[in-house]
Amino acid sequence: MPQPPAADGPAAASSSSSDPADGPAPSTAPSNRSVGAQPAASPPAAAEPFPRRPSSSSGGGVPSHPDQTLATLAAACAACHRCALATTRQQVVVGRGNPAARLLLIGEAPGAQEDAQGLPFVGKAGQLLDRMLASVGLDSERDAYICNVIKCRPPDNRKPTPAEMAACRPFLLQQIALVDAPLILLAGATALEGVLGIRGGITKLRGQWREGQGEGLEGRLLMPIFHPSYLLRNASKEQGSPKWLTWQDLKEVRRRLDGL
Ligand code: SF4
Repeated sequence: MPQPPAADGPAAASSSSSDPADGPAPSTAPSNRSVGAQPAASPPAAAEPFPRRPSSSSGGGVPSHPDQTLATLAAACAACHRCALATTRQQVVVGRGNPAARLLLIGEAPGAQEDAQGLPFVGKAGQLLDRMLASVGLDSERDAYICNVIKCRPPDNRKPTPAEMAACRPFLLQQIALVDAPLILLAGATALEGVLGIRGGITKLRGQWREGQGEGLEGRLLMPIFHPSYLLRNASKEQGSPKWLTWQDLKEVRRRLDGL
């Protein structure tokens, strides 16, 4: 079994052509989840649609028409030149999915395909993410809203710099407030750093709910998970493998959603 590296950003996303068709093979073995987590639930028999929340959110200061306001945010991003990535992007990549979903997934940064299409997580990593969400009965367009820490592609898919993440952070915080999801997944070490300021430790911290504090995170639960690009490079579905662990994490996410 490959040994997980300390970081799991999407830098080498492209590679695998033996990308498994879906989530890890089911197992009855218990999860090794630790702080604050509940025992893994059995996989749901079938996808269960999560209804949209009412457009008038109960969250403080959240506008009543999230689609329209996210469009305004997208326009602001498109005009943004706060950092040098504006000079190399093809287009900004703001988000996709259901703006009223109860699950928000935040990744690192757009890659080449995302930059070309203007949508996050549409390459191989995104396709794997969609299949893994589907393995726990979640549809990425219906049951989640997906975005990245930064909205423009870093050249050569390098990791965003701290300055770039800081420059783009106001957009991310506005996006978190607008979507107003109670559950947030942080996909990969860069998302963990960009949202919570925690550097390193994704292997140890994944699968654990953390209570959000300050800057629009208050009242939300956040869970770091491995980035799907990392899972493309570690395709084993064996018990204890990164992919198997992520499946346990997503089952826990599903369980939480079912309890909301
Ligand atoms: S990455 Fe963010 S801050 Fe930098 S130019 Fe793009 S939208 Fe602006």
